[in-house]
Amino acid sequence: MKYDDQNIFAKILRGEIPCKKVYEDEYILSFYDINPQKKIHVLVIPKGKYVNLDDFSNNASSEEIVGLLKGINTVAKKLQISFDTGNGYRALSNIGEYGGQEVPHLHFHLFGGEKIGKMVE
Ligand code: AMP
Repeated sequence: MKYDDQNIFAKILRGEIPCKKVYEDEYILSFYDINPQKKIHVLVIPKGKYVNLDDFSNNASSEEIVGLLKGINTVAKKLQISFDTGNGYRALSNIGEYGGQEVPHLHFHLFGGEKIGKMVE
């Protein structure tokens, strides 16, 4: 699947649409989900143009892969939901049609601040 430069997260990365930023570095941007499903619900996205996790795993550089994984941990620590700073959280990435992915730019949802409950409803 070709990357769509007009997807909403691409527009956020370009600064064309605002977001409520949590954290940003060379590799990632993190911001609050516009339609939170839990007490804390943020998104973590890579700055590179990747449609989903499979595209990322196939095509991203080692630095980008490390940057995203470490970035998730940094964001979780900043929000005090990480294993060492809080009570834990759920990191989830929807991939493609059957995975329920709506925005075609790789993103991880981080849910926390309360018990997240069943893994699949
Ligand atoms: P997914 O179904 O995994 O593709 O999730 C897409 C997520 O993006 C949903 O949870 C939406 O609420 C969220 N979302 C869509 N537009 C925005 C936006 N402009 N700012 C923040 N979150 C958004």
